[in-house]
Amino acid sequence: MTAINSVGAVALVGAGPGAADLLTLRALKLIQQAGAVVYDRLVSEEVLALIPPGCLCFDVGKSRGQHSVSQAEIGALLVQLAQQGLKVVRLKGGDPAIFGRLAEELDALDSAGIRWQIVPGISAASGCAAATGIPLTERGIAQQLRFISAVDKDCNTTQDWASLARPGQTLVFYMGLSALSEISQQLIAHGLAPDWPLLLVENGSRPAQRQLLTTLTEAATAAQHMALQSPCLILVGEVVLRQRQLVPLMAKLKQQVGYLAA
Ligand code: SAH
Repeated sequence: MTAINSVGAVALVGAGPGAADLLTLRALKLIQQAGAVVYDRLVSEEVLALIPPGCLCFDVGKSRGQHSVSQAEIGALLVQLAQQGLKVVRLKGGDPAIFGRLAEELDALDSAGIRWQIVPGISAASGCAAATGIPLTERGIAQQLRFISAVDKDCNTTQDWASLARPGQTLVFYMGLSALSEISQQLIAHGLAPDWPLLLVENGSRPAQRQLLTTLTEAATAAQHMALQSPCLILVGEVVLRQRQLVPLMAKLKQQVGYLAA
């Protein structure tokens, strides 16, 4: 953290996968005390509803490949707001340190001598796994867990496919829906079985959540058939077959524990 004299400061806050009650207490407190909030497209309406009235709000959301506000402009905006003495919350979907351009924003703040802090959030991987009832690792079937950005900043899908196409690990592809066909083909071409399991989770943890359990060969067609949309996470590996039946489990819990039934 940079030592400086300016009054304002910026908190780079993880907004989690969508459900507001998956925010950390620290995130909630900072949002409630914010003078300005700068947020991304992935931050849910439910979380945005927690921003107090009178707080300045800036939507800098961007879809892949079509940046509505450039990274340089976002950095400049954060600096400008903090220099006005505001408590600024930079809200980012999931965890700000995972595929969240955190370093670029910290560089901008450091260059201007602005104080900052990072507040972690629940990343899509954890949020989607919990919401669908799967473990991300399991002794004997997945000793490794890999978070992969399916596309780079120029929308290329180059990966070390040979190292990804191995059993014994769970692959989590972020930003992968448009590259699903290529991901499946490459994993098969590099040695995974065509019927290797794959789970797609759209809108994980949100009321509109949908999921599709499929295989590498069938994934692209099945996703198209269901017209899956972003945000969507791709989980590949045997852990996705360990899916627990959440609905019967919740019904049973509600019977046993009174307060859950509320
Ligand atoms: N920092 C974020 C990731 C940003 S990259 C995090 O830690 O989760 C954006 C990608 O995250 C999306 O394209 C999608 O693949 C995934 N994602 C984010 N929220 C999601 C959600 N609620 N359900 C499914 N995927 C999600």
